[in-house]
Amino acid sequence: MRPLPVPRASLAGLDRYCPEAGACPLDVSDNTSLWGPSPAAERAVRLASAESLSRYPPADPRALCTALADYAGVRPEAVVTGCGSDDVIECALRAFAEPGDAVAFCVPTFSMLATFARVNGLQPHSVPFRPDGELDVEGLLAARARITYVASPNNPTGREVSARALEQLLASADGLVLVDEAYGEFAEHSCLPWLERFPRLLVTRTLSKAFGLAGLRVGYGAGAESVVAALSLVRGPYKLNAVAERAALAALTEDLPWVRARVGEARVVRERLAEELRRLDLAPLPSGANFLCIPVTHAVRWGARLLARGVRVRVLPALPGLGDALRIGVGPWESMEAVLAALRAVAAEGLA
Ligand code: PMP
Repeated sequence: MRPLPVPRASLAGLDRYCPEAGACPLDVSDNTSLWGPSPAAERAVRLASAESLSRYPPADPRALCTALADYAGVRPEAVVTGCGSDDVIECALRAFAEPGDAVAFCVPTFSMLATFARVNGLQPHSVPFRPDGELDVEGLLAARARITYVASPNNPTGREVSARALEQLLASADGLVLVDEAYGEFAEHSCLPWLERFPRLLVTRTLSKAFGLAGLRVGYGAGAESVVAALSLVRGPYKLNAVAERAALAALTEDLPWVRARVGEARVVRERLAEELRRLDLAPLPSGANFLCIPVTHAVRWGARLLARGVRVRVLPALPGLGDALRIGVGPWESMEAVLAALRAVAAEGLA
């Protein structure tokens, strides 16, 4: 008998990304916007024309790239879009590394990065963060990787990488430096103004968080023209569907005041929630994102008890250098009060 087709060897041992799902009264586990979608984007989806369903979207969504460029403060030629920033990151891995090459990053970080590397035949090369939580620039440079990935703010810790460490990395790295700013709107610092200075820099961003459009899957990358040209080639023509494109354009042209107001609220709620958590003797890590990471003992037990009380948080067992932790997305204060009530109840009954 002829043997069955065999998947790539590099897929061995990989698990599908399958976050806990299902109905839950309050789900703060996935860092999406708990304020809901941009209203202009929602209207655009409702009003989608028959033609936008039956015809292909533009192969190169220039109007959207221009709107994204205006928003990001970069030139339109510096922007490439994708089906979520996931897609842009994966395109970068395919465009800038050969199979077998290394992709370096500090851990813990966005868990999909190692998977994206493996499914594209690349070698994930992980380096621990320094004990003070800062990027290990020397360790990353020593990997001499074709691509170095840094999420800032980082997921799952929420921590912003210092501008100094990023500058050091960009000044000395040999390959592409991908700075993932999926949570950039909630942070103090962005690398977007550095694009002219560092032609090896690619910044990826998304409308999934601050714009509340995770379901539409709109991400983008900003980089030097040669970087964007390579990504556009790998990306192919129709990554962004026509409805998502129109909705994203509506959000960017009509709803920036709405987005900025929600981001402002998220930052205030984040600090207020951190304060309340400290009152519960928990020690959330400093965050520049729309979530808090809270080291705990027995994260799995915490997660199950909170779920039983109708609150789903992200359970993070055994993070490198941190141990167990919970990740909680911030949203309108009423929802945070419900999270705090559940946490207080679980803390009071004990986890034994
Ligand atoms: N980067 C980071 C750090 C993330 O946390 C996420 C999503 N959780 C993404 C990228 C991907 O986001 P999207 O594909 O929705 O743009």
